[in-house]
Amino acid sequence: MGPQSSHSDMQHLAAILKKFGVDDPDWVAVILFVRNLLGRLTVYSEEKKGEIQREVFAELAKKDFSETGFETIIAMLDMYIMQTIGTLELEESLAQEKRSAAQLLNEMTEIIDSMQGSADRQNRKLDAFKEQTVGVIESGKERSFIVAKVRDMFQDLIVEFKEEARELQAKAKLLEHTANFDPMLTELHNRRALDAFLLDVMRDQDENSAPLSMMMIDVDFFKDVNDTYGHQAGDDVLRALSRIISAHAIQYQGFTARYGGEEIVIVMQDMKRNIAAIKAEAIRSDVENYDFRIRTDGKLADTPIQFTVSIGVSAWQPGWGAGEFVHAADTALYAAKNSGRNKVSVFKEE
Ligand code: GH3
Ligand code: MG
Ligand code: MG
Repeated sequence: MGPQSSHSDMQHLAAILKKFGVDDPDWVAVILFVRNLLGRLTVYSEEKKGEIQREVFAELAKKDFSETGFETIIAMLDMYIMQTIGTLELEESLAQEKRSAAQLLNEMTEIIDSMQGSADRQNRKLDAFKEQTVGVIESGKERSFIVAKVRDMFQDLIVEFKEEARELQAKAKLLEHTANFDPMLTELHNRRALDAFLLDVMRDQDENSAPLSMMMIDVDFFKDVNDTYGHQAGDDVLRALSRIISAHAIQYQGFTARYGGEEIVIVMQDMKRNIAAIKAEAIRSDVENYDFRIRTDGKLADTPIQFTVSIGVSAWQPGWGAGEFVHAADTALYAAKNSGRNKVSVFKEE
């Protein structure tokens, strides 16, 4: 239907209305609103549209086309239009709120990706929220009441989301820990995390960078510990060693990792070779003097068993990648073993 036919439609309608004594253009506008416009308003349910039409037609049926009659109908339509605008605003703010809730979800995209079930649950909550909201709107209460009610529901929703976000973050932290830390020596990173860390450090490392050093620590004659006291005691030794090393490394923000079975690596950023050698010596000495007692059935042995470590130290050289850096520490460790164990050896380029 183009504007032309709509115009003649209107003339046709005006002619009919004139027969009924309605010739005021304002009244025609009212009738046109009810007949044409109302039908196109999507914010109203069919039921509501019918209700408005019935009410307007009931007024028209009184055939009171006076100024007062007109004002009554206009006030009625005004109310409906106000409600419509209120609803539209509400829909806009609902969309806004759904967006901000979506933003909250976005902040956790990575976590949610791996926990699809949770995202589904939240979407269901959003849907339920929308349904409830529509319910409140359709209840036909006052606009201020509706807005307050919707706000309340939204606040509840956000609180719930935040709680869920907090739980998800805690779970993600746990997952991250599981992924990056050794299952037995829980305070140490695993080999995968060490590789990633070194790769990351090496990316920015050049001759102008702060000095970077590394320790490679290996238990001396560890096979003997296992053979003499059993594998369980061997594990306990490793746990004790891991705690000693962590206590040292934490003082200089060293990155500690379990490199192999009983080999532990510390990467020290902003630390020169000679300082690294001193820190390594402190660890070696602490281990040597550590009072380690084997625990059998929860009971500690009367006498300690002694174990020692050898440590290789390397300082990063320009041109080195992670491989050369680790290899240098390993070479130094080999030298420490060869010079009698329970020693610190520093890698030096010839
Ligand atoms: P060296 O002084 O030359 O280092 O002698 P070593 O006996 O310590 O020799 P090496 O480092 O080559 O051997 C490591 C041994 O550590 C082999 C393995 O049985 C033991 N081991 C590795 N990982 C674990 C572990 O998680 N628990 C226990 N109990 N033993 C382990
Ligand atoms: Mg060893
Ligand atoms: Mg070893």
